[in-house]
Amino acid sequence: MITVEEAKKIIAQEIPRGPAVALPLEKVCSRILAEEIQSPIDSPLFNASAMDGFGIHHEETTGASRPLPVTLKSAGLIAAGDVWNKPLGAGEAVHIMTGAMLPEGATAVIPQEEVLQDSGGTIMITREVKRGEHVRLKGEEIRKGDPVLPKETLLTPGGIGFLASLGIFKASVYAAPKVFVIPTGSELVKDSSQLEKGKIIESNSHVLKAALQELQMQATLSHPIPDIHKVLFAVTETALTDHDFILITGGVSVGSFDLVKEILKKLGVKTLFWQVAQKPGKPLYFGKYKSKFVFGLPGNPASSLVCFYEYVRPAILKWLGFKEIFLAEDKAHLSEPFQIKGDRAQFIRARAQKKEGRLLVQPLLGQESHRMAAFSMANCFMFVPKEMGSLGSGDEVTIHWLPQERRGLY
Ligand code: AMP
Ligand code: MG
Repeated sequence: MITVEEAKKIIAQEIPRGPAVALPLEKVCSRILAEEIQSPIDSPLFNASAMDGFGIHHEETTGASRPLPVTLKSAGLIAAGDVWNKPLGAGEAVHIMTGAMLPEGATAVIPQEEVLQDSGGTIMITREVKRGEHVRLKGEEIRKGDPVLPKETLLTPGGIGFLASLGIFKASVYAAPKVFVIPTGSELVKDSSQLEKGKIIESNSHVLKAALQELQMQATLSHPIPDIHKVLFAVTETALTDHDFILITGGVSVGSFDLVKEILKKLGVKTLFWQVAQKPGKPLYFGKYKSKFVFGLPGNPASSLVCFYEYVRPAILKWLGFKEIFLAEDKAHLSEPFQIKGDRAQFIRARAQKKEGRLLVQPLLGQESHRMAAFSMANCFMFVPKEMGSLGSGDEVTIHWLPQERRGLY
């Protein structure tokens, strides 16, 4: 049996980054860029106005003031998208809209609100205008050939907008792993229509599918597989041929019908660890077959999901190229006393909330690993190392935020 920390270290060390794959922009949000991108163009593409105003020769406003305004002659109107071929003449101003191409010779734009206009096309400027005022210069954001985004950048809507503005509509990101989920147990049925005495409704596949959806990942789901060696062997063998991650739930403990380890061994999967000193999730298994990884998750739904969040999700994030792969940690104060029994580290489903500037955490009732009600209300795990016995109200503990809470919904 290894510790939580050791298990996490093995996962972080073993899981490589996935291969790079070029995907269209609509598929790359929240993914990690696998190679540097260079700009195919200058941006802006040309000198343009940053305001609705008048393009001028800035030096012609030297000495301008309210009592002594400078008078210029308007040479016409340029809309965004127009092509204006005439250079700006001496003593001329040109009415120009935001984003329109600046005529040759113009060195600044004065916003139209600052200009006095008369009906005869004359404008008066009552202050000195500096070179480059309200002008977007060609290539000031980026030059052709320069790096747009470095490798390993997290692609956000902002980054995607930047790429699109440069005409880049594909990006190379770390490929999503192909995931296969196998729920095992002869007691499991798909839904209530098949419920007979002694059977229960299979829920782990739904739990894991949803948890993968949170990561924008899809999975192939097997129907529940009975604890029959031949059957489970065949399904696992098939899964291993074409998937990067195999998540098997149940059958990984020490019971007479816990066949998973034996089958994986027979298939040539190398055990990287089995059993972690934690509650829930002690039977957790992690193994490797060529470049594929197998997680044996405990059958109880709460254990299975705790193990997903603490170990499988980080493995997937590592594969996707993320550096911060584990749940975000915080310190919080216990809202009530809490007694820890046993000699293993614990992940307590809990709810953390800010009250008067202090982060308080409340352990939820019903921590047994077959119970999911507390999990439905949890927004974090309270992580209690095995040394901590009896905790008082107000004591500081470590919490691991569940992914949805990183959006600040608490
Ligand atoms: P096991 O790890 O196979 O010993 O299963 C532990 C407990 O979890 C047993 O009570 C199983 O019935 C239950 N269990 C296993 N797999 C599932 C599943 N996919 N959905 C719901 N409960 C399950
Ligand atoms: Mg079982």
